Amino acid sequence: MNSFSSKNRATIIKQLSAVNYDLLVIGGGITGAGIALDAASRGLKVALLDMQDFAAGTSSRSTKLIHGGLRYLKQLEFALVAEVGRERKIIHRNAPHLTKPEAMLLPIMKKGSFGKFTTKLAMIVYERLAGVKKEERHQVLSAKETSLKEPLLPKENLLGGILFYEYRTDDARLTIEILKEAVIKGTTAVNYIKVTGFTYENDIVNGVQAEDQLNGAAFHIKAAYVINAGGPWVDELDGLDNTKNAGKLQITKGVHIVVDQKKLPVKQSLYFDTYDGRMMFIIPREGKTYIGTTDTFYDGDKPHPKITAGDREYILKCVNDYFQAQKLKPGDIESGWAGLRPLIRKPGKKPSEISRKDETFVWESGLITIAGGKLTGYRKMAERVMNKVAEKMLRDLGRKIPVSTTSGIKISGGKMYKSVSFREFVKNKIKEGFTVGFTGEEAEKIVSRYGSNVDAVYNIARKLNMEEPENALPLALRVQLIYTIENEMCVSPADFFTRRTGMLYFEIKVVKSMKEALSAYMRKLLLWDENTSAVFEKQLAEAILEVE
Ligand code: FAD
Repeated sequence: MNSFSSKNRATIIKQLSAVNYDLLVIGGGITGAGIALDAASRGLKVALLDMQDFAAGTSSRSTKLIHGGLRYLKQLEFALVAEVGRERKIIHRNAPHLTKPEAMLLPIMKKGSFGKFTTKLAMIVYERLAGVKKEERHQVLSAKETSLKEPLLPKENLLGGILFYEYRTDDARLTIEILKEAVIKGTTAVNYIKVTGFTYENDIVNGVQAEDQLNGAAFHIKAAYVINAGGPWVDELDGLDNTKNAGKLQITKGVHIVVDQKKLPVKQSLYFDTYDGRMMFIIPREGKTYIGTTDTFYDGDKPHPKITAGDREYILKCVNDYFQAQKLKPGDIESGWAGLRPLIRKPGKKPSEISRKDETFVWESGLITIAGGKLTGYRKMAERVMNKVAEKMLRDLGRKIPVSTTSGIKISGGKMYKSVSFREFVKNKIKEGFTVGFTGEEAEKIVSRYGSNVDAVYNIARKLNMEEPENALPLALRVQLIYTIENEMCVSPADFFTRRTGMLYFEIKVVKSMKEALSAYMRKLLLWDENTSAVFEKQLAEAILEVE
């Protein structure tokens, strides 16, 4: 049985109440996924639950960068910069398909908050701390060189620029690939299962009460240890525990907007200081450009944070201040997303001043909670929290488990042949894609999305070419839908368009034109009844409304 296929969801759920788990992880964002992989690779029997789709919380709503955290240097967070810098290299090695080096240009302007000399100095410190490799170290550019790199920048007031490297990722796919690897190593991971309470023996947590959000079924799952990796919901989950340790989070909201690249045809990614002293990214991707982010305190609806008119106005003002010859209008915004940062509360600090460091709490009931952190630091966070579990296991049960080995584990999709470079691998697979029936653009998207799993996707295409040559849904969408249903527990059209492919953000027009055909195809594959179809139709309509 494929244990990450949504076709087998009912059987997988049955297993949840039949097994005594060593560890149960609440939350299928990057934090929970990283913990599940660390724990499963140390030989533990692990279950992971998410009340929504995997990555539907913050982990699909970030700036989508695996970054060294240059910004944190300003706050003198040296240890954090060093750690995320080291982690960046490890993620690049283990998931090359999801970490594309991205040259960032930081323009230096007269009256801006950066001086050439101090920025260069900061860069040297940053690169030392983060262990940046030689070929990716920064370059200092003259005003003329900066203009050549990015002709859209205004020439007056431009003093020069600094070019440095970050890695662009797909946050939701990274989360799902880590989970797939955890499942390969024995984890049982299920989406749309909400933890509604804890169970105890002698006041110590020994499992959870859970509820299937798709049919209302309630059940009990037994686990020796439970970790709360609930991201923005960490406090609500801790509030369900007898020890009632809620109140450690400060949530801030960050918004990104997406415009067609023709509306802001930047040649490359930019990192610039805004009129109010913050930093903002402009990142071209797949024919679109995304811009963000905002940083404001938040206490609204958590599953569906909205982009307000004020958020849009603020981002447009920041961009239009810079690119005065190419002003963006509200009507140019095609899509976007709002995400919630689960930060550790620090009274008196402004949103952008609050540290992004993670913290682990071990409560009296035995419940372990992890909060804060970054996408980039997920592996180290997982290792730290699992070291705490290992200590507890040794103390409580006399059971010794191995140390973490995740720095050497290639994650699903990252297992290319050793003999070829990633670039070579992509080139070869695009060529093969033509023979299967894809255009170059389609093949490139598929290879970069699924990495070394591309062979499985192409095999589905070969089968469909024989069995079903004609269909209202293009081949490229059909094969990805089948692959993600059978291998990534894709349950609904919204899961597919948002977390499996990112199309809701970067190809909203295709989503709108294909949504009926895709839903109909999915209904046929998964044998939905009328009620299920209506629920998922509503879910997708809401997801589209949320990004517009
Ligand atoms: P989440 O992804 O929110 O996962 C928590 C999960 O728990 C959710 O899926 C939720 O459904 C589930 N859950 C909650 N309660 C329950 C329950 N009762 N039962 C079952 N499941 C439950 N970091 C970077 O490194 N690079 C960046 O470029 C970057 N940019 C960012 C930009 C923005 C705007 C924001 C908001 C954050 C950014 N971050 C970035 C930070 C990073 O995205 C977060 O630190 C990370 O995604 C948090 O992941 P998480 O797993 O802790 O939380």
